[in-house]
Amino acid sequence: MRIATVAGRAVVLDGARYADIETASSRRFPADPVRLLQRWDELRGWTPADAAWVEFEPAQLGAPIPSPRQVFALAVNYPDHAGEATTALPEAPYVFAKFPSCITGPHDDVILPSDRADWELELVVVIGRRAHHVAENDAWDHVAGLTIGQDISERRVQFGKPIPNLTMAKSFPTFGPTGPAIVTLDEIADRDALTLTCSINGETMQHANTRDMVFAVPQVIAAISANVPLLPGDLIFTGTPAGIGSTRDPRRYLAPGDVIDSAIEGLGAMRNVCRQEV
Ligand code: ZN
Repeated sequence: MRIATVAGRAVVLDGARYADIETASSRRFPADPVRLLQRWDELRGWTPADAAWVEFEPAQLGAPIPSPRQVFALAVNYPDHAGEATTALPEAPYVFAKFPSCITGPHDDVILPSDRADWELELVVVIGRRAHHVAENDAWDHVAGLTIGQDISERRVQFGKPIPNLTMAKSFPTFGPTGPAIVTLDEIADRDALTLTCSINGETMQHANTRDMVFAVPQVIAAISANVPLLPGDLIFTGTPAGIGSTRDPRRYLAPGDVIDSAIEGLGAMRNVCRQEV
């Protein structure tokens, strides 16, 4: 199952067609994506009737979860990114927050607040069941599915003195493109090994595989849920591989007009265009 949104309403996708979940279920399920995922165990066995399908264009899709209650992200979760950032690998997952107001859709513009914004393609985990003190072995049972995310980052704020500030640097409006859909685990061939590719204006910048993550998804869920309960609809950005702009020589930052293409094997693709804040 692929769950997305059109005009903020939860839909299920089938190729180039969608079905509005509330309508197609005769109001058994709600249109709000967070409330819908609170019914995850019921939803996963449901299919819409034949008559419910509507053709759509990719740009009609919004963020699969436009207003999650919590958005977590990991710093330094790929060895090659730790290398380029000249950071030691953490001994446990290093978790920070992205404020939910940064979340935007798979085809929405990224608004640049400065000349120091950077890209970070990441696998995003979508929680489907409340997770508190969850063991690694049980972690995947709390996941509704996976989607694509860009953890757009303002590097001047991030590395500001005297205390680096990841959460503020990564929470500007539009700094969390996500989508195009939540892909449920039964549709994913190998949930632990997915190829990610990010290109800017057609030039490949990041090309990696999620099998190289320092802390795999179960370890991340166990670590976060040891402190903070994970709630249905919550997002976890699982860290970016090498190839960001700010560690290149010369450094490269996002500029107005830049086109960010983000793809993850089996999850689809996003295209976001950068523009200047006005
Ligand atoms: Zn990141």
